[in-house]
Amino acid sequence: MSEPTIFERIVSGDIPARVVYETDTVLAFLDANPLAPGHTLVVPKEAHRRLRDLPDDVAADVWAAVDELAPRVEDAVDADGLTVGVNDGEAAGQEVPHVHVHLVPRFEGDGGGPIHAVAGAKPDLSDEELDDIADSIEG
Ligand code: AMP
Repeated sequence: MSEPTIFERIVSGDIPARVVYETDTVLAFLDANPLAPGHTLVVPKEAHRRLRDLPDDVAADVWAAVDELAPRVEDAVDADGLTVGVNDGEAAGQEVPHVHVHLVPRFEGDGGGPIHAVAGAKPDLSDEELDDIADSIEG
């Protein structure tokens, strides 16, 4: 058995968190190292490492929670917007191996960037390469 993730320990009540939302399958709580006031994490109670590992019903429950919480989080801190994101995999910056959706309130002039700023140098792709990629994704 692998060690429980820190988020499993929060779900089980083993370590404290500022819980803001709970259903049978989903928990949301304030991030301990917030990028902005109101930074909230939405997690499935079951530990799944990657988005691709989530059963469909759990994925739907997580998204329903995001949908419900997004305006609540934004309004609670009187933000001007919200960045919603998942670091899915180590290469994408995932540190806790338990799926979590970040809700990060955004404020005019907060100095942050859009999601477009998270990747490295933009690739220069030909039409053929774009067609191939689209075909592979479409399956
Ligand atoms: P990621 O890099 O996407 O895996 O993000 C992990 C997030 O979990 C970071 O934003 C951390 O600040 C947050 N975090 C780590 N430990 C805790 C904890 N005990 N309670 C709340 N948030 C945590």
